Amino acid sequence: MINVVETQKVLVADDDAINREVLGDLLKPEYTVLLAKNGAQTLERAARHAPDLILLDVMMPDMDGYEVLRQLRADPQTEHIAVIFISGLDRPEDEANGLKMGASDYIVKPFNPTVVMARVALHLQVVRQRRMLERLANIDGLTELANRRRFDEMYALEWQRARRSGRPLSLALLDIDAFKQFNDRYGHPAGDRALRSVARVAGAAMRRPADLAARYGGEELVLLMPETDADHARRVVEALCEAVAELNIVHEASAVAPMLTVSVGGATLAPDSSELQSDLFEAADAELYRAKQAGRNRITWREGAG
Ligand code: GH3
Ligand code: MG
Ligand code: MG
Repeated sequence: MINVVETQKVLVADDDAINREVLGDLLKPEYTVLLAKNGAQTLERAARHAPDLILLDVMMPDMDGYEVLRQLRADPQTEHIAVIFISGLDRPEDEANGLKMGASDYIVKPFNPTVVMARVALHLQVVRQRRMLERLANIDGLTELANRRRFDEMYALEWQRARRSGRPLSLALLDIDAFKQFNDRYGHPAGDRALRSVARVAGAAMRRPADLAARYGGEELVLLMPETDADHARRVVEALCEAVAELNIVHEASAVAPMLTVSVGGATLAPDSSELQSDLFEAADAELYRAKQAGRNRITWREGAG
Protein backbone atom coordinates (compact mmCIF):
# COMPACT_ATOMS: atom_id res chain seq x y z
CA MET A 1 0.00 0.00 0.00
CA ILE A 2 1.25 3.44 -0.85
CA ASN A 3 1.54 5.83 2.04
CA VAL A 4 1.13 9.42 0.99
CA VAL A 5 2.94 11.54 3.54
CA GLU A 6 0.94 14.68 4.17
CA THR A 7 2.56 17.71 5.72
CA GLN A 8 1.59 17.88 9.36
CA LYS A 9 -0.36 20.81 10.76
CA VAL A 10 0.92 22.96 13.59
CA LEU A 11 -1.21 25.60 15.31
CA VAL A 12 0.72 28.47 16.88
CA ALA A 13 -1.28 30.14 19.67
CA ASP A 14 0.19 33.31 21.11
CA ASP A 15 -1.31 36.70 21.94
CA ASP A 16 1.90 38.42 20.88
CA ALA A 17 1.98 39.17 17.14
CA ILE A 18 5.79 39.10 16.96
CA ASN A 19 5.96 35.68 18.62
CA ARG A 20 3.34 34.33 16.24
CA GLU A 21 5.27 35.63 13.28
CA VAL A 22 8.65 34.33 14.45
CA LEU A 23 7.29 30.86 15.24
CA GLY A 24 5.18 30.82 12.09
CA ASP A 25 8.13 31.70 9.86
CA LEU A 26 10.26 29.12 11.60
CA LEU A 27 7.77 26.30 11.06
CA LYS A 28 6.41 27.21 7.61
CA PRO A 29 9.13 25.58 5.49
CA GLU A 30 8.31 22.16 7.00
CA TYR A 31 4.72 22.27 8.19
CA THR A 32 1.33 23.69 7.46
CA VAL A 33 1.06 26.52 9.98
CA LEU A 34 -2.14 27.90 11.50
CA LEU A 35 -2.22 30.89 13.82
CA ALA A 36 -4.41 31.88 16.76
CA LYS A 37 -4.15 35.03 18.83
CA ASN A 38 -6.23 34.07 21.85
CA GLY A 39 -7.73 31.14 23.71
CA ALA A 40 -11.12 31.19 22.00
CA GLN A 41 -9.52 31.26 18.57
CA THR A 42 -7.21 28.38 19.56
CA LEU A 43 -10.16 26.19 20.55
CA GLU A 44 -12.10 27.10 17.43
CA ARG A 45 -9.16 26.42 15.05
CA ALA A 46 -8.24 23.22 16.88
CA ALA A 47 -11.77 21.86 16.42
CA ARG A 48 -12.04 23.03 12.83
CA HIS A 49 -8.61 22.13 11.43
CA ALA A 50 -7.57 19.20 13.65
CA PRO A 51 -3.89 20.22 13.89
CA ASP A 52 -1.35 17.56 14.80
CA LEU A 53 0.31 19.80 17.36
CA ILE A 54 -0.37 23.09 19.14
CA LEU A 55 2.37 25.42 20.34
CA LEU A 56 0.49 27.06 23.16
CA ASP A 57 1.45 30.24 24.95
CA VAL A 58 0.70 30.00 28.67
CA MET A 59 0.05 33.65 29.39
CA MET A 60 -2.71 35.08 27.26
CA PRO A 61 -5.14 37.75 28.47
CA ASP A 62 -8.58 36.26 27.79
CA MET A 63 -7.96 32.63 28.64
CA ASP A 64 -4.61 31.26 29.73
CA GLY A 65 -2.92 28.25 28.13
CA TYR A 66 -3.79 25.98 31.07
CA GLU A 67 -7.48 26.66 30.57
CA VAL A 68 -7.16 26.17 26.80
CA LEU A 69 -5.49 22.80 27.39
CA ARG A 70 -8.20 21.81 29.88
CA GLN A 71 -10.92 22.61 27.34
CA LEU A 72 -9.08 20.82 24.53
CA ARG A 73 -8.91 17.68 26.66
CA ALA A 74 -12.59 17.92 27.56
CA ASP A 75 -13.73 17.79 23.92
CA PRO A 76 -13.56 14.36 22.22
CA GLN A 77 -12.78 16.13 18.93
CA THR A 78 -9.60 17.73 20.29
CA GLU A 79 -8.65 15.62 23.30
CA HIS A 80 -5.76 13.83 21.60
CA ILE A 81 -4.06 16.84 20.02
CA ALA A 82 -0.46 17.15 21.24
CA VAL A 83 0.32 20.41 23.00
CA ILE A 84 3.67 22.06 23.71
CA PHE A 85 3.55 24.95 26.13
CA ILE A 86 5.69 27.97 25.31
CA SER A 87 6.03 30.18 28.30
CA GLY A 88 7.88 33.03 29.92
CA LEU A 89 7.26 31.32 33.25
CA ASP A 90 10.56 29.60 33.83
CA ARG A 91 10.30 28.24 37.37
CA PRO A 92 10.60 24.43 37.62
CA GLU A 93 7.12 24.33 39.26
CA ASP A 94 5.61 25.99 36.19
CA GLU A 95 7.23 23.50 33.90
CA ALA A 96 6.26 20.53 36.07
CA ASN A 97 2.72 21.84 36.34
CA GLY A 98 2.36 22.20 32.57
CA LEU A 99 3.59 18.65 31.98
CA LYS A 100 1.30 17.30 34.70
CA MET A 101 -1.66 18.90 32.95
CA GLY A 102 -0.97 16.75 29.93
CA ALA A 103 1.27 18.86 27.74
CA SER A 104 3.82 16.88 25.73
CA ASP A 105 6.57 19.39 26.41
CA TYR A 106 7.36 22.80 27.89
CA ILE A 107 9.58 25.36 26.20
CA VAL A 108 10.78 28.42 28.08
CA LYS A 109 10.95 31.85 26.42
CA PRO A 110 13.12 33.27 25.05
CA PHE A 111 13.35 30.12 22.97
CA ASN A 112 16.12 28.85 20.76
CA PRO A 113 14.74 28.27 17.22
CA THR A 114 16.80 25.14 16.61
CA VAL A 115 15.60 23.57 19.84
CA VAL A 116 11.99 24.49 19.09
CA MET A 117 12.24 22.83 15.67
CA ALA A 118 13.86 19.71 17.14
CA ARG A 119 11.19 19.35 19.82
CA VAL A 120 8.36 19.96 17.36
CA ALA A 121 9.81 17.29 15.04
CA LEU A 122 10.11 14.85 17.93
CA HIS A 123 6.53 15.27 19.10
CA LEU A 124 5.16 15.12 15.57
CA GLN A 125 6.96 11.83 15.13
CA VAL A 126 5.23 10.51 18.24
CA VAL A 127 1.91 11.68 16.77
CA ARG A 128 2.61 9.81 13.51
CA GLN A 129 3.50 6.65 15.38
CA ARG A 130 0.37 6.82 17.51
CA ARG A 131 -1.77 7.27 14.38
CA MET A 132 -0.13 4.30 12.73
CA LEU A 133 -0.75 2.09 15.77
CA GLU A 134 -4.36 3.23 15.90
CA ARG A 135 -4.75 2.39 12.25
CA LEU A 136 -3.22 -1.04 12.66
CA ALA A 137 -5.47 -1.75 15.63
CA ASN A 138 -8.56 -1.00 13.54
CA ILE A 139 -7.72 -2.61 10.23
CA ASP A 140 -7.96 -6.18 9.08
CA GLY A 141 -4.61 -7.31 7.72
CA LEU A 142 -5.87 -9.48 4.87
CA THR A 143 -8.61 -7.31 3.39
CA GLU A 144 -7.49 -3.89 4.66
CA LEU A 145 -11.09 -3.18 5.57
CA ALA A 146 -12.04 -2.06 9.06
CA ASN A 147 -11.82 -5.00 11.45
CA ARG A 148 -14.39 -6.42 13.86
CA ARG A 149 -13.16 -4.23 16.70
CA ARG A 150 -13.60 -1.07 14.66
CA PHE A 151 -17.04 -2.21 13.53
CA ASP A 152 -18.16 -2.88 17.12
CA GLU A 153 -17.01 0.59 18.12
CA MET A 154 -18.70 2.36 15.20
CA TYR A 155 -21.89 0.32 15.47
CA ALA A 156 -22.33 1.29 19.13
CA LEU A 157 -21.72 4.92 18.24
CA GLU A 158 -24.07 4.99 15.25
CA TRP A 159 -26.76 3.13 17.16
CA GLN A 160 -26.74 5.82 19.85
CA ARG A 161 -26.73 8.52 17.20
CA ALA A 162 -29.69 6.94 15.39
CA ARG A 163 -31.63 6.67 18.65
CA ARG A 164 -31.10 10.36 19.31
CA SER A 165 -31.90 11.51 15.79
CA GLY A 166 -34.68 9.03 15.02
CA ARG A 167 -33.08 8.50 11.59
CA PRO A 168 -32.94 5.02 10.03
CA LEU A 169 -29.82 2.92 10.43
CA SER A 170 -29.14 0.15 7.92
CA LEU A 171 -26.92 -2.85 8.50
CA ALA A 172 -26.14 -5.69 6.12
CA LEU A 173 -24.21 -8.94 6.46
CA LEU A 174 -22.53 -10.30 3.35
CA ASP A 175 -21.28 -13.85 3.11
CA ILE A 176 -19.51 -15.45 0.15
CA ASP A 177 -21.39 -18.42 -1.29
CA ALA A 178 -19.77 -21.85 -1.33
CA PHE A 179 -16.45 -20.45 -0.26
CA LYS A 180 -15.33 -23.68 1.30
CA GLN A 181 -15.66 -25.31 -2.13
CA PHE A 182 -13.76 -22.40 -3.65
CA ASN A 183 -10.83 -23.01 -1.31
CA ASP A 184 -11.02 -26.75 -1.89
CA ARG A 185 -11.00 -26.30 -5.64
CA TYR A 186 -8.56 -23.43 -6.16
CA GLY A 187 -6.51 -23.40 -2.97
CA HIS A 188 -6.43 -21.16 0.06
CA PRO A 189 -4.20 -18.45 -1.50
CA ALA A 190 -6.67 -18.06 -4.37
CA GLY A 191 -9.43 -17.91 -1.76
CA ASP A 192 -7.57 -15.10 -0.01
CA ARG A 193 -7.27 -13.19 -3.27
CA ALA A 194 -10.97 -13.63 -4.01
CA LEU A 195 -11.88 -12.46 -0.52
CA ARG A 196 -9.66 -9.42 -0.94
CA SER A 197 -11.36 -8.58 -4.25
CA VAL A 198 -14.82 -8.83 -2.72
CA ALA A 199 -13.65 -6.67 0.20
CA ARG A 200 -12.31 -4.03 -2.19
CA VAL A 201 -15.65 -3.94 -4.02
CA ALA A 202 -17.50 -3.65 -0.69
CA GLY A 203 -15.25 -0.81 0.44
CA ALA A 204 -15.77 1.04 -2.84
CA ALA A 205 -19.56 0.62 -2.60
CA MET A 206 -19.62 2.66 0.62
CA ARG A 207 -20.06 6.19 -0.65
CA ARG A 208 -20.83 8.37 2.33
CA PRO A 209 -18.16 9.26 4.87
CA ALA A 210 -20.13 7.63 7.70
CA ASP A 211 -20.68 4.37 5.79
CA LEU A 212 -18.49 1.52 6.92
CA ALA A 213 -17.54 -1.82 5.39
CA ALA A 214 -15.79 -4.15 7.81
CA ARG A 215 -14.63 -7.75 7.90
CA TYR A 216 -16.80 -9.35 10.53
CA GLY A 217 -14.93 -12.65 10.46
CA GLY A 218 -13.94 -15.37 7.99
CA GLU A 219 -15.57 -14.64 4.62
CA GLU A 220 -18.29 -12.52 6.16
CA LEU A 221 -18.40 -8.74 5.79
CA VAL A 222 -20.65 -6.25 7.51
CA LEU A 223 -21.90 -2.97 6.03
CA LEU A 224 -23.08 -0.16 8.25
CA MET A 225 -25.02 2.70 6.65
CA PRO A 226 -26.13 5.46 9.02
CA GLU A 227 -29.02 7.75 8.07
CA THR A 228 -29.89 5.43 5.21
CA ASP A 229 -33.37 4.05 4.64
CA ALA A 230 -34.05 0.51 3.46
CA ASP A 231 -34.61 1.42 -0.21
CA HIS A 232 -31.38 3.33 -0.47
CA ALA A 233 -29.32 0.78 1.45
CA ARG A 234 -30.71 -2.02 -0.66
CA ARG A 235 -29.77 -0.18 -3.84
CA VAL A 236 -26.22 0.27 -2.53
CA VAL A 237 -26.04 -3.47 -1.83
CA GLU A 238 -27.50 -4.32 -5.25
CA ALA A 239 -24.76 -2.26 -6.90
CA LEU A 240 -22.21 -4.00 -4.71
CA CYS A 241 -23.48 -7.45 -5.78
CA GLU A 242 -23.37 -6.39 -9.43
CA ALA A 243 -19.78 -5.28 -8.94
CA VAL A 244 -18.96 -8.67 -7.40
CA ALA A 245 -20.50 -10.37 -10.46
CA GLU A 246 -18.38 -8.12 -12.69
CA LEU A 247 -15.25 -9.39 -10.95
CA ASN A 248 -16.14 -12.59 -12.76
CA ILE A 249 -14.15 -14.87 -10.48
CA VAL A 250 -14.59 -18.34 -11.90
CA HIS A 251 -16.05 -20.83 -9.41
CA GLU A 252 -16.69 -24.12 -11.17
CA ALA A 253 -17.40 -25.97 -7.94
CA SER A 254 -20.31 -23.72 -6.98
CA ALA A 255 -23.82 -25.09 -7.41
CA VAL A 256 -25.14 -21.51 -7.42
CA ALA A 257 -23.46 -19.97 -10.46
CA PRO A 258 -20.34 -20.49 -12.62
CA MET A 259 -18.70 -17.54 -10.85
CA LEU A 260 -18.22 -16.38 -7.28
CA THR A 261 -21.40 -14.97 -5.73
CA VAL A 262 -22.45 -13.56 -2.39
CA SER A 263 -25.56 -13.58 -0.24
CA VAL A 264 -26.61 -10.54 1.75
CA GLY A 265 -29.05 -10.10 4.59
CA GLY A 266 -29.94 -6.55 5.50
CA ALA A 267 -32.11 -4.76 8.00
CA THR A 268 -33.14 -1.17 8.59
CA LEU A 269 -34.39 0.34 11.81
CA ALA A 270 -35.12 3.82 13.10
CA PRO A 271 -34.55 2.75 16.70
CA ASP A 272 -36.69 3.90 19.58
CA SER A 273 -36.09 3.15 23.24
CA SER A 274 -37.69 -0.30 23.06
CA GLU A 275 -35.11 -1.74 20.67
CA LEU A 276 -31.69 -3.09 21.42
CA GLN A 277 -28.58 -2.71 19.35
CA SER A 278 -28.50 -6.47 18.99
CA ASP A 279 -32.00 -6.48 17.42
CA LEU A 280 -30.82 -4.87 14.21
CA PHE A 281 -27.80 -7.14 13.93
CA GLU A 282 -29.86 -10.24 14.62
CA ALA A 283 -32.44 -9.17 12.04
CA ALA A 284 -29.70 -8.84 9.40
CA ASP A 285 -28.26 -12.20 10.46
CA ALA A 286 -31.69 -13.86 10.15
CA GLU A 287 -32.09 -12.28 6.71
CA LEU A 288 -28.71 -13.66 5.65
CA TYR A 289 -29.84 -17.10 6.74
CA ARG A 290 -33.02 -16.64 4.71
CA ALA A 291 -31.00 -15.59 1.63
CA LYS A 292 -28.86 -18.72 1.97
CA GLN A 293 -31.89 -20.96 2.46
CA ALA A 294 -33.64 -19.45 -0.55
CA GLY A 295 -30.78 -20.52 -2.83
CA ARG A 296 -27.93 -18.00 -2.23
CA ASN A 297 -26.73 -15.28 -4.67
CA ARG A 298 -29.43 -12.88 -3.45
CA ILE A 299 -30.32 -10.07 -1.12
CA THR A 300 -33.09 -10.17 1.46
CA TRP A 301 -34.04 -7.25 3.67
CA ARG A 302 -36.12 -6.51 6.69
CA GLU A 303 -37.52 -3.10 7.50
CA GLY A 304 -38.71 -2.00 10.91
CA ALA A 305 -38.90 -3.89 14.20
CA GLY A 306 -40.06 -7.46 14.75
P1 GH3 B 1 -22.27 -20.84 2.28
O1 GH3 B 1 -22.69 -20.63 0.87
O2 GH3 B 1 -23.32 -21.49 3.10
O3 GH3 B 1 -21.79 -19.60 2.92
O4 GH3 B 1 -21.08 -21.88 2.22
P2 GH3 B 1 -19.56 -21.61 2.59
O5 GH3 B 1 -18.77 -22.73 2.08
O6 GH3 B 1 -19.14 -20.27 2.12
O7 GH3 B 1 -19.66 -21.51 4.15
P3 GH3 B 1 -18.86 -22.19 5.30
O8 GH3 B 1 -19.16 -21.34 6.49
O9 GH3 B 1 -19.14 -23.64 5.37
O10 GH3 B 1 -17.34 -22.02 4.92
C1 GH3 B 1 -16.72 -20.80 4.94
C2 GH3 B 1 -15.36 -21.01 4.37
O11 GH3 B 1 -14.66 -19.78 4.27
C3 GH3 B 1 -14.53 -21.92 5.22
C4 GH3 B 1 -13.26 -21.17 5.45
O12 GH3 B 1 -12.14 -21.95 5.22
C5 GH3 B 1 -13.29 -20.05 4.42
N1 GH3 B 1 -12.62 -18.89 4.89
C6 GH3 B 1 -12.90 -18.10 5.96
N2 GH3 B 1 -11.98 -17.13 6.09
C7 GH3 B 1 -11.10 -17.28 5.08
C8 GH3 B 1 -9.95 -16.58 4.67
O13 GH3 B 1 -9.50 -15.60 5.28
N3 GH3 B 1 -9.30 -17.02 3.55
C9 GH3 B 1 -9.75 -18.08 2.86
N4 GH3 B 1 -9.08 -18.46 1.77
N5 GH3 B 1 -10.82 -18.77 3.23
C10 GH3 B 1 -11.51 -18.39 4.32
MG1 MG C 1 -20.02 -18.56 2.96
MG1 MG D 1 -19.52 -17.73 6.51
